[in-house]
Amino acid sequence: MKKPPVAVAIDGPSGAGKSTIAKSLAKELQFIYVDTGALYRSVGYMALRDGINPGDAEAVQALLPRLRMQIRYIDGAQRVLVNGEDVSDKIRTPEVSMAASAVSSLPAVRRFLFDLQRDIAKTNNVIMDGRDIGTVVLPDAQVKIFLTASAEIRAQRRFEELTEKGEMVTYEAVLADMEKRDYDDSHREAAPLKAAEDAVLVDSSSLDLQQTVAVMKAIVEKALG
Ligand code: C5P
Repeated sequence: MKKPPVAVAIDGPSGAGKSTIAKSLAKELQFIYVDTGALYRSVGYMALRDGINPGDAEAVQALLPRLRMQIRYIDGAQRVLVNGEDVSDKIRTPEVSMAASAVSSLPAVRRFLFDLQRDIAKTNNVIMDGRDIGTVVLPDAQVKIFLTASAEIRAQRRFEELTEKGEMVTYEAVLADMEKRDYDDSHREAAPLKAAEDAVLVDSSSLDLQQTVAVMKAIVEKALG
């Protein structure tokens, strides 16, 4: 019998380094990296583009049947297509981050994106990152890690990332956005951000990127044997 695919679930608040680390681990293990935040970002982006308030549950829900979401891999990098359009380069702004967080609190949006995430893991070895991967999307994942760091450190990292890209932001604004998103993500009713009971906790506050990758790699290798 064919062995079922392996899944590594990485959850945690924004700016903890989940995506960078998951990408690097996926490369080493030759697994597919699935960034689920990009899906919520894409829905938030499409709402903004349609002039819809991302907090307006009815209007967002009415938008969903008009969105055909696809995940593609181009040169190993994940791209999100909505109605055939690659939106991946448009979903990384602070405005889209807040819109993503707003739409992600809606159960209809979570249901809408569920199968897409689940289906990829049915046929591929994956490292999937998000907020509810170990708790809701892939509760049977062989490895679950909850990666976190202090809000100040995560905001500093995100601030550097955004300024490098030429975004005009202040550290204070990035920290305030992050604290609001953390609060909203972990206090919503639908799939709140929390560590799965069987997740290994990693705090990257005092670790650099290489050290965090090494810690996570050791956890994955130990779990997969
Ligand atoms: O990880 P990223 O910052 O790209 O996620 C954007 C937003 O999407 C998060 O703030 C969160 O509200 C939402 N999200 C979610 N569940 C996931 C991934 C992301 O609710 N699995």
